[in-house]
Amino acid sequence: MSETQVNAEIAGMSGLTLGGRQLAVLDRVRIYSCGITPYDVTHLGHAATFVWVDALARTVRMLGAEPEVCRNVTDVDDVLDEAARRAGEPYDAFAAVQQHYFDRDMAALNVRDVAHEPRARRYVDQVIRLADGLLAAGAAYVRNGSVYFHGESAVRRSGLDLETALRLSAEYAGRPDDAAKDDPLDVAVWQASESGHPAWESPWGQGRPGWHAECAAMALSVFGPVVDVHAGGADLRFPHHAYHAAMAEAFTGARPYARTWLHAGTVRIGGAKMAKSAGNLVLVRDLADGHPAAAVRLMILDRPWDKDWDYSPGLLDRAERRLEDLYQATGRTGTSPAAVAEIARLLRADLNVAAAVDTGIEEGGAAARSVAATLGLT
Ligand SMILES: [Zn+2]
Repeated sequence: MSETQVNAEIAGMSGLTLGGRQLAVLDRVRIYSCGITPYDVTHLGHAATFVWVDALARTVRMLGAEPEVCRNVTDVDDVLDEAARRAGEPYDAFAAVQQHYFDRDMAALNVRDVAHEPRARRYVDQVIRLADGLLAAGAAYVRNGSVYFHGESAVRRSGLDLETALRLSAEYAGRPDDAAKDDPLDVAVWQASESGHPAWESPWGQGRPGWHAECAAMALSVFGPVVDVHAGGADLRFPHHAYHAAMAEAFTGARPYARTWLHAGTVRIGGAKMAKSAGNLVLVRDLADGHPAAAVRLMILDRPWDKDWDYSPGLLDRAERRLEDLYQATGRTGTSPAAVAEIARLLRADLNVAAAVDTGIEEGGAAARSVAATLGLT
């Protein structure tokens, strides 16, 4: 097989599988990634999702299509309000500083700039229109200046039992005990004004957008009714993604809202979820201080994307050795062109990075260079 034949074979690969679903790609691939709430420094758990989205985008590009990534910034958020209040700063100035640190960490991890980076506070009008449309569709109702979305369809699509849905709703600020709602699992598309939070005018009085509605409004504004891939951390599956999709579908009538989903596995420490409240955050900037940032990137990618995993310093040391092996392999000569095609096949088969890196190290030369270049490990 000649190099030209290999390139023709890769160009002829018309799509990839993701989470067991076939994703045919022709030209443009719309990837919506739930971004950060800019209230704290980037930890490894957040970074893992964005590195996987970047690897997906690079794989799409390898297949000759154009990835169009939209990664929002949730700069209207109750958690952000609280953090800004503690810091004694206006929420928008506070968010801008945190955003700067996030951008620096993403650049260090070689995550490419995204095509769209909508900020929630610029999409308040769209949330109001979304609320209006959901009311017109009979999917929402007004109580005391708030607009609530009927949560039943979101819960049904999640497949969760009621008890789990209520627990997760409470955990993610869904306020199941809000007495104004018809059902505990309904959520605010528009939340009536409360002290300590930013507020905007709306047909229902002063208030602010709800979290799921913000993302739905941004995704619909940027991409229209349907996205090819919706990505985010596994912990966003419910309630955030379930409500986002349910609202989008109720508003547009287009189903399904997402052709496929990428839920990146949760990063744990000694079995526990990484969280500020648990005091076990591993920060990207600390990892990149003592190791090449490409090793941090490889550590994230060198595993199935949908599985939870435990971080330990030994994993980073191992990734650094693997990276060194890959770099050394790039200098070898006499690679079989078929090995390069094999790497493309592995990446398009559910982003099998670990096997692609193995093949790159074993075959060396063009195969190793292909892995390193495609995955941004250079
Ligand atoms: Zn989102």
